[in-house]
Amino acid sequence: MSNLEPTVRTTLSRRKERGSYDRDTVFGIIDEARICHVGFVHEGHPFVLPTAHVRVGGAVYLHGALRGRMLGAACAGACLTFTLLDGLVLGRSAMHHSMNYRSVVVLARGRDVTDRDEKAAALAALVERAVPGRSREVRPPNEAELAATRVVAFAIEEASAKIRSGPPVDLASDLEARCWAGVIPLALVAGSPEPDPLMRAGIAQPPRV
Ligand SMILES: Cc1cc2nc3c(=O)[nH]c(=O)nc-3n(C[C@H](O)[C@H](O)[C@H](O)COP(=O)(O)OP(=O)(O)OC[C@H]3O[C@@H](n4cnc5c(N)ncnc54)[C@H](O)[C@@H]3O)c2cc1C
Repeated sequence: MSNLEPTVRTTLSRRKERGSYDRDTVFGIIDEARICHVGFVHEGHPFVLPTAHVRVGGAVYLHGALRGRMLGAACAGACLTFTLLDGLVLGRSAMHHSMNYRSVVVLARGRDVTDRDEKAAALAALVERAVPGRSREVRPPNEAELAATRVVAFAIEEASAKIRSGPPVDLASDLEARCWAGVIPLALVAGSPEPDPLMRAGIAQPPRV
């Protein structure tokens, strides 16, 4: 286990006890999250856009169109946010409703990935996120597709995690209230696979799918 070094920008000022700089904790949340929200400034205005991501080693990789605004602006500085929603917390007062969550914030400048092998590996890792082993089953990107895709890496160095878990934290004076209190757990679950109607006949569903 090793810790990321907190900086002025990643030091929690609210609810410090919920913070973590443990590298494995940060990596685990990033890996479990299916969506990354990318905060960046474009022409003086902040934007936050959702996108797919993958972590390879100590970096998060994003991909997109060559001339996409998000990746271009993120190279000048970005805030990547990863959020896992674990539950709704119902307190005995309006004030003490909350959410259970695990989240990560990464502050970094994006680095354009120009090395062909690193780019191809990042794109394969993105496909692997869908189903492990998938990148070896499908047609890999050809040179034209690789050239048309921008891949940007963000080092996970200036980063923080914040985690809330457990029951509501109510005032002692509210504990006798005649009101249900507790947590409604939430989780993202996969449904049954839906075969593409255009798939050629005779292809069985692989166990991994
Ligand atoms: C699902 C969810 C629901 C939330 N609901 C609310 C809400 O309703 N109201 C509310 O005020 N807050 C809510 N939060 C917490 C919110 O994300 C902020 O932590 C909080 O608002 C404090 O903001 P701040 O700018 O004062 O943080 P500060 O503590 O000043 O932030 C300083 C640094 O701490 C780190 N940090 C702060 N928050 C997080 C985080 N969530 N994850 C990882 N690192 C973090 C970042 O590096 C940040 O730059 C919610 C969080 C999640 C994940």
